[in-house]
Amino acid sequence: MPNRSSNPILRFAPSPNGRLHLGHAYSALVTWRAAATLGGTALLRIEDIDAERCKPEFAQAIEDDLHWLGLDWPVPVMHQSDRMQAYADAGNALRDQRLLYPCFCSRTEVAALATGTDPDGAPLYPGTCRHMARSEQIERLERGDPVQFRLDTEAATARAGMLTYTVVGPLVTDRPQIRHARPERWGDVVLQRKGTPTSYHLAVVVDDAAQDITHVTRGRDMEAATDIHVLLQMLLGLTSPIYHFHRLILDEDGRKLAKSKGSPSLASLREAGWTPADVRRAVGLGD
Ligand code: GLU
Repeated sequence: MPNRSSNPILRFAPSPNGRLHLGHAYSALVTWRAAATLGGTALLRIEDIDAERCKPEFAQAIEDDLHWLGLDWPVPVMHQSDRMQAYADAGNALRDQRLLYPCFCSRTEVAALATGTDPDGAPLYPGTCRHMARSEQIERLERGDPVQFRLDTEAATARAGMLTYTVVGPLVTDRPQIRHARPERWGDVVLQRKGTPTSYHLAVVVDDAAQDITHVTRGRDMEAATDIHVLLQMLLGLTSPIYHFHRLILDEDGRKLAKSKGSPSLASLREAGWTPADVRRAVGLGD
């Protein structure tokens, strides 16, 4: 196992595909509060691998909004768009273990053949391309067919053996709990795409390790995805951080806040006269 610095390091890792809202503010405030409780540091990472949806102006606005909230970070911001080589290397390490395979199925085909749903409710990939002959793989890759690279989750899980990880509650110094990871419920997840050597799962694992993250604070909506992250950490020889899953900030209909549902941005609340203290109070972190 690689060495782990004894200094707790946490991170807030938003995607710059819109302005931050109260849900993001809560997640960021929880992260900085946990860093303070642990006597550690919180870092900012911009998760901008999706070149179509992510915009540099949103990345800058995230920094401005966090500074307005009174949050700061001691080292330069990491941008995932700068880290494609690291993701390609991790993909190659999995390929060397024969755990990645090319999949040529379209979204429609996957939906039609799905054997159920994954924990996010998306169609579960039935493994159609897993046993494709090498010659056909080569022919289709050379022809330039649209391709994604999937993890052979069954083989990976068999190799990894029993997978556990550590979870802590809102008081991050409380007694930790050990959880079993069940990555098989995700099926063969996509880890790389044509032209992009990573998906969210691979990038987050590679970067948490590169930034020496000791504690990941993320929303409960990301809890199940941790199964895949713990599996990838094991396969890549990386130390798993400790996890804290925080509650989600919901709108009055009980739905998670989202830009797509028109949740007000921090910028619009600021323009309407809100102060950082109002934001803290609104998310239940006031004094
Ligand atoms: N980038 C992810 C998001 O904006 C969260 C990152 C993580 O906790 O892994 O939802």
